[in-house]
Amino acid sequence: MASSRPAAGGPFPRLDTRAVHAASASPPLGAAGESPHAAPLYQTANFTYPDSAAADRAAAGGAYLYSRDANPTTDALARALADLEGGAAGLSFASGMAAIASAVFAFATDGDKGGDKGGGEVIASEGLYGGSTELLAELGPRHGVHTRFVPAWDVDTVRAALGPRTRVILIETITNPLLRVADLPALGALAAERGVALIVDSTFATPCLCRPLSHGATVVAHSISKYVSGHGDLIGGVTVGSAEAMSRVRRYRLLLGGMMDPFCAWLALRGLRTMPLRVERQCKSAAYLADRLAAMPGVVRVHYPGRADHPDSARARELLATGGAMVSFELAGAAAARRLYDRLRVVARAASLGEVSSLPTHPASFSHRGVSAGERARLGITDGLLRLSVGIEAVEDLEDDLRQALG
Ligand SMILES: *Cc1c(COP(=O)(O)O)cnc(C)c1O
Repeated sequence: MASSRPAAGGPFPRLDTRAVHAASASPPLGAAGESPHAAPLYQTANFTYPDSAAADRAAAGGAYLYSRDANPTTDALARALADLEGGAAGLSFASGMAAIASAVFAFATDGDKGGDKGGGEVIASEGLYGGSTELLAELGPRHGVHTRFVPAWDVDTVRAALGPRTRVILIETITNPLLRVADLPALGALAAERGVALIVDSTFATPCLCRPLSHGATVVAHSISKYVSGHGDLIGGVTVGSAEAMSRVRRYRLLLGGMMDPFCAWLALRGLRTMPLRVERQCKSAAYLADRLAAMPGVVRVHYPGRADHPDSARARELLATGGAMVSFELAGAAAARRLYDRLRVVARAASLGEVSSLPTHPASFSHRGVSAGERARLGITDGLLRLSVGIEAVEDLEDDLRQALG
């Protein structure tokens, strides 16, 4: 069912339709069998029962009880993402970090290898989202979870790092800010062979570009704050996987309290309906701008997986429906990068990514500020590197803005 390669008819066959329908599946409400076309918002903490027998059923887990564990609106969002990712079940979270933390700890500290006797080891990619890196480096060891960071786009480094205590491989489909593309089929096969959970943060890719479960991922996680909601007006996360995997993660959500608020889920469902349309436009503009930037004076190098000069361009062509909607490029140094940032007029100077507005970041002074200059150099993050999350503005306006900011 789930192939990351489009079957036919454009980059996002049928996903567009499924995204539109995802937000409107509701049970009949009235005498004529009518039901609300937009997903209803169940802004409620708890649920009432007609009698004690029904309350017993709820307490046993067969019905809605309390919205920290389950709520129809947050369920609707999780179901929609599960559908788009080709997974059996999904869970909504208060943030992408809550989703990633719950998934990683559920698999790194549990299970037949470790039991409840403590944590196991995580092999994580370099270039992960800063929050994920800090979670593993800072909080992991306090809870018995130890992490080794490797350049996971090179599968041999993951294979070499796997040990008897490894429980989890954590990667991102497309890394930040150099946009390296994971070899998902090879990592999926390796994880299966070693009985390790493969957790894939696919926030940058979205289900429009790639469906990691079809390549052997155990869990796919998303920050809903980015492309899925798309409008920069909420913080949320989702995990998708098998029913068994999700029941394991759900326990962590319940007890750590990282549940999404129903109104947030309602807003995210509204955003989700236009996600394929937005992402398609954003990818198209990103590909155009990547080529334009490469020809602009002052630009030393462009990093875009859809360009032949990117180290993972062949893999991107194979695994991703497009080259993505993020473009990174290098200027001569930090001063030039900060100058461009300061001169932007159309592109909004705000953090984050995946919104309708184009958003820039200067990794050396923002996401990688706390990383030493030596380590940044080793990672290939030069002082002149900028990352652009391409929005849905007229691409000519974005091109003009970049050109005037560079000039
Ligand atoms: C933003 C982001 C996160 C964290 O998500 P929040 O919703 O901010 O908690 C995790 N991974 C990636 C790749 C992100 O871009």
